[in-house]
Amino acid sequence: MEGLFIQYKESVKLTDPEIKQRNETKELIQSDIRKLYANSSLELFGSSANGFGHSKSDLDLCLIMEDDEQTDKVQIIEDLVESLKADVKYRRVVGIKTARVPIVKLTISRCNIDADISLLNSLALHNTNMLAAYNDIDERLQTLGFILKYFAKVCDMCDASSGSISSYAFIIMMIHYLQQLPIPVLPVLQQLGDRSVGPVVNGWNCYYFKDIRNLYEVWKPVERNRMSVAELWIGFLKYYAMDFDWLTDVVTIKQLDKLTKFKKWWTSKHVAIEDPFNLEHNLGQAVSGRMRTYMLMRFQRAYKHHTKPKHWKHLDELINEF
Ligand code: ATP
Ligand code: MG
Repeated sequence: MEGLFIQYKESVKLTDPEIKQRNETKELIQSDIRKLYANSSLELFGSSANGFGHSKSDLDLCLIMEDDEQTDKVQIIEDLVESLKADVKYRRVVGIKTARVPIVKLTISRCNIDADISLLNSLALHNTNMLAAYNDIDERLQTLGFILKYFAKVCDMCDASSGSISSYAFIIMMIHYLQQLPIPVLPVLQQLGDRSVGPVVNGWNCYYFKDIRNLYEVWKPVERNRMSVAELWIGFLKYYAMDFDWLTDVVTIKQLDKLTKFKKWWTSKHVAIEDPFNLEHNLGQAVSGRMRTYMLMRFQRAYKHHTKPKHWKHLDELINEF
């Protein structure tokens, strides 16, 4: 199982040329947008920048304007849609003005990659960098993240707009699991060092410990965790299938202490996954009771299936057949 996991990660993760192409595409869109807003800039975030990207991942872009407070978001979306629609470099350009974070969706004709341009979504840049920092700490996270995203996609439970949860929320679930193990794989970066240095973005403290090279000078786990990726994967499935209390608890990566829905005033929510910076945002807010039951059932079935003493030849055999 271990070999299959590593092989899968190596075969799907973004290559250096692909990362370069994504950055060039960002530059191209940025120069088009600057014809409209000369003082704007575009930043790459999400899986193109956090280590969990594969060649089919969408391109998450964030438009930063010079004066965040003064901007009329609806107007910007309308202007962007009108301008990009008229450009043959882009296809399927649509604006979503009413979303929590307004976005323009489009497809880049040249490489057929879908892109979401969100407006003034600075918190997302911070959480992208923090996920990348967690990836720098232990390479097992990246392998587990890819397997989890694949598993969630196959199970059809990775779409926040249709009542399940985003890739990002699944990665938060994985980091939480790796932090709370008796011998942890990951620390809680937001609790190491001096939180008072910020930065504060939209009223939220976005501090996390960034000096990963010197991590073990401040983080001193009793022992180093030596579990294999396969053991951790099975442990992850078991944790969410059997140990984690979905009725009362919140998935958090900001603290090790147990966090309850009661404490967050989220008792009416079926699934509670705390965003690490915007603490009022529940990444599981769209999940219905039926979807939670379904997700739990998938975790339970996968746990039973994956612990069978069998020699798996292909990842599809492992992930699809249960
Ligand atoms: P994929 O490869 O599937 O696109 P991804 O890591 O880019 O994976 P997305 O779900 O596309 O994950 O999310 C991209 C970014 O958008 C995340 O890094 C996060 O900053 C932000 N994001 C995603 N879902 C949410 C959410 N429910 N609430 C707040 N921010 C979110
Ligand atoms: Mg994405």
